[in-house]
Amino acid sequence: MKTGASALCFCGKEPAIFLHYAQKHLCEGHFIRMFDKRFRKTVSVHQMLKKGDRVAVGLSGGKDSTVLLHSLAELRKDLPFEIVAITIDEGIEGYRARTLGIAKKECGKLGIEQVILRFDTETGKTLDEAMARGKMGPDDNEPAALPCTHCGVLRRYLLNKGARQAKATKLALGHNLDDMAQTVLMNIMRNEPARLARLSEPLMKSDRFVRRIRPLMLSPERENAIYAMLKGIDIEHVECPYARFAFRSHVRKMLNDTEVRYPGTKFKVVNAFFDMEEGLRMQFGKARPLSECSSCGEPCSGSVCMFCKRVKAGG
Ligand code: SF4
Ligand code: ZN
Repeated sequence: MKTGASALCFCGKEPAIFLHYAQKHLCEGHFIRMFDKRFRKTVSVHQMLKKGDRVAVGLSGGKDSTVLLHSLAELRKDLPFEIVAITIDEGIEGYRARTLGIAKKECGKLGIEQVILRFDTETGKTLDEAMARGKMGPDDNEPAALPCTHCGVLRRYLLNKGARQAKATKLALGHNLDDMAQTVLMNIMRNEPARLARLSEPLMKSDRFVRRIRPLMLSPERENAIYAMLKGIDIEHVECPYARFAFRSHVRKMLNDTEVRYPGTKFKVVNAFFDMEEGLRMQFGKARPLSECSSCGEPCSGSVCMFCKRVKAGG
């Protein structure tokens, strides 16, 4: 962090952070004010919430979703809406138990109801069991299948189902600016423009999809961590043991390196997506109509949804 003795916040106080992309030092108070203002502006510009909403927060207990929970709880004082937390326990040994503890504690502190859905009770297997870690890969530590792809399909499905069962009108996700920029680039690098087109919302409407919102999508990951620290929010610096197998890890590193050399790159990638979004949705909006999964009844584009295919295949 570049916080030299002569570099002060514009108010004259010692800086708590240097924002490279804005070439600005901010003291603790002004950083928190900027962060909160950006959060509220994102919610309002993208019309994410309205009075009387019931918001399901996808709460993993990691820093982003925990900051999201706190920021929404704060916003609730000015705009009356309800909050319920949905936590997914994938069953990842040595990782999830720690963040689950934080999620539970934070919900308790804020008086927020929490629903926990577990991979093993919902699908018959924990993620560890589904990946048969250490048994089938070329080296002893490699999983048999791509864990993040599998985990992502199951988690998205369960979050939507959990939110709907909790009678939520919105599903708030803790995705930050870094996640968004990575997702945009990943979809481009994999030549999946149709996926990019439905990043903000599904192309086909269904009342079984709870609308997803990402109020932290313009907050850089580093700022969420510093905000949590300054606000006394518990955060756990533990990485999922499967993360290193993910394509996302390569894209994250590439984006971080580029951001150091060219500050503001992450914002530019996400803003470019917003500029392209309408055109993409027009081009890919004429996809096959939604049908119902013959196994679970959830909306899908084929006869069986991805979740049921994976669970049936032994995931
Ligand atoms: Fe799931 Fe991959 Fe995230 Fe681990 S890193 S929780 S496997 S999506
Ligand atoms: Zn299904």
